[in-house]
Amino acid sequence: MTIRDVGLIANMQETEPAQIDPPDFERKIELSQVELSYKGLPPALLAIMMNATVIIIAQWSVIQQEILIGWYLAVLILSIIRYLNYREYQNQEPSEATAHIWKWRAITSSLVSGVIWGSAAFLLVPLQHQFHQTIIIAALIGMAAGGVLTQAALLKASLGFLMLVIIPLIIRLFTLGGTANVGLGIMTTLFLVIMWTGALRIHRTIYQSLSMSEQQQHSRMIIEHLAYHDSLTNLPNRRLLYERLDKDIARSIHHSHIGALIFLDLDNFKTLNDSLGHQQGDKLLNQLATRLESCLREEDTPTRLGGDEFVLLLPELADVEQLATELSEGTAKQVQEAIAQPFNLGTSEFHIAASIGIVLFPCHGDNADDLLKRADYAMYQAKAAGRNSIRFYDPDMQEKANLLMTLEQGIRNALKQGELTLHYQPLVTIQGVLVGAEALVRWQHPEKGLIDPNQFIPLVEQSGLVSQLGEQVLEQACLDITQLIETGLIDDSFRISINVSPMQFSSKEFVNEMIEKVTSQGIQPNRFTLEVTENSLILNLKETVDKVQQLRKAGFSLAIDDFGTGQSSLAYIKELPIDVIKIDRILIKDIHTQKADAIIVEGTVSMARNLGVTVVAEGVDTQETLEKLDDFGCHIIQGFLVAEPMAFELFKDYLQQYNKRDGTENPIPPPL
Ligand code: C2E
Ligand code: MG
Ligand code: MG
Repeated sequence: MTIRDVGLIANMQETEPAQIDPPDFERKIELSQVELSYKGLPPALLAIMMNATVIIIAQWSVIQQEILIGWYLAVLILSIIRYLNYREYQNQEPSEATAHIWKWRAITSSLVSGVIWGSAAFLLVPLQHQFHQTIIIAALIGMAAGGVLTQAALLKASLGFLMLVIIPLIIRLFTLGGTANVGLGIMTTLFLVIMWTGALRIHRTIYQSLSMSEQQQHSRMIIEHLAYHDSLTNLPNRRLLYERLDKDIARSIHHSHIGALIFLDLDNFKTLNDSLGHQQGDKLLNQLATRLESCLREEDTPTRLGGDEFVLLLPELADVEQLATELSEGTAKQVQEAIAQPFNLGTSEFHIAASIGIVLFPCHGDNADDLLKRADYAMYQAKAAGRNSIRFYDPDMQEKANLLMTLEQGIRNALKQGELTLHYQPLVTIQGVLVGAEALVRWQHPEKGLIDPNQFIPLVEQSGLVSQLGEQVLEQACLDITQLIETGLIDDSFRISINVSPMQFSSKEFVNEMIEKVTSQGIQPNRFTLEVTENSLILNLKETVDKVQQLRKAGFSLAIDDFGTGQSSLAYIKELPIDVIKIDRILIKDIHTQKADAIIVEGTVSMARNLGVTVVAEGVDTQETLEKLDDFGCHIIQGFLVAEPMAFELFKDYLQQYNKRDGTENPIPPPL
């Protein structure tokens, strides 16, 4: 049984039903029995030879010498064979697999020895000489007792030897005749019974003590394993990582080698747990553990720190920093690729990505604590860079991390003090008709000024403030749209698009809360389009379809935001009753220069049109881009070419200006 099996057994109760056999105690005990039996062999053989020699000398004058020599030779040859067998056993280090072979060799030699000694009862007992009879009887009884004791670990050997020596003796005593011999025969029979029960008892005691020691050893292994491994994934835990890392740091300093620590955190894992349940989350983590192991070398250590955080320890990668950087990045990319493959969670397939931070040691730190903290910072840097990215630790990072912590605290205050405001960016048809605007949140920081959402939305998600932010954005958008309706600045078809974060969308109460909040402000839900990124939609397609249907029934429009940046697949769109696809700026910005982008966008537009879905192109900032999109048949555009996002007051001015236009002006409203 390997240490991994021990862990799996320990793990079994928690994660999966018993699929693994209990440890093979019987085979281990068999091995220990064999060991015991062989250990006692050399002194036993010595005793046998001494006993045989004494018999030969004692019986020399009363038994035919050829018989004596023949018998003695038989004892000697068998003893030599048994000794050679013992030497072979010692040289070969027997295992559980070969124990039974050694056991049968021991039993067979013991039985043959029993036959030789049993034959002495007939061959070496003289008819007339009482004294010489007594000598051989005493010698045989002594041999039987000694054999039972030395072979007690192997019951067949000990009982077989006892029977083969004593039964011929009993027969011989009864057949010799005379009261004394019959009396001796009866006593020897009693001796056989006593030795038989004694042998059984000794054997049982040995067996019990061996089995107890095996159980203790097994329990110790489990306890030790649990202390050093994660109970869900069975990967090494933080404690084992620290122990190995301390050693590896010392070794790399000593040998001038460079190792790496890869810190990995899954993106949006909380969303999966919240929407599909913790059991599915656990399943994914288990599959992930196996994939991580497959990306590593034998000497690397994959560790689960807890939750969705994993650390991979790669010791002694290279002698120079450049190569160590390349190799660790290579492994990190391999890990990302492994994670990018869909996870099969029984009822559904799930896609996930990871943000990865890397530190090199000893270059980035010479103690485990510092290195882990720094790898963690690097990972957060990767998260901030847009998830599914890899970042190496750079010494400025610590300062940045402190800044992030301050920012996080700042966001809590901002939410409390209403420092978040909405900017609006127009959405116009390709012919220039204004059809709506996207509400984009901004943080009006008292000292730092206006902070844009990419800098704080990831932090909001991490700190669990998403629903609070969503609530404030919706409330503000409701107030703003009420004002726009009341002042007559927009017509009935004008819609405001609201961004919904994946975590917000995955909440069970999301649909009811949206309907309740909007209608309680006296606004029709058909005034809003909800923008959700595709990754959050495909998490749990069935539940998403239900949610989208309910939202649309209430009047909301549904848009897939940032289309083209995730696991884009038009396949799921036909199952989702959505209204709008917003093609991401990444794909749009180069369509007039990059043929591949143009082909993808054109294909997406045409497929979406066939499915009856409206297409919005994001980030349109040049005339050429606009013309291409027009050629492709795109419906609606959004971008700096039309207008940048603007504060509500400016947006109202923009609407006024737009409403004053006459039909002769450029169909695309000029930027303000
Ligand atoms: P998004 O929903 O894809 O919003 C479009 C982003 O593209 C906006 O950035 C907008 O300013 C920018 N953009 C529009 N046209 C152009 C252009 O022609 N050129 C360039 N370079 N950029 C353009 P912004 O406002 O910084 O928002 C970034 C992201 O933050 C949004 O991406 C959205 O995912 C998120 N976000 C914004 N507001 C909210 C919100 O209220 N709640 C949530 N959960 N997320 C929000
Ligand atoms: Mg958006
Ligand atoms: Mg977008």
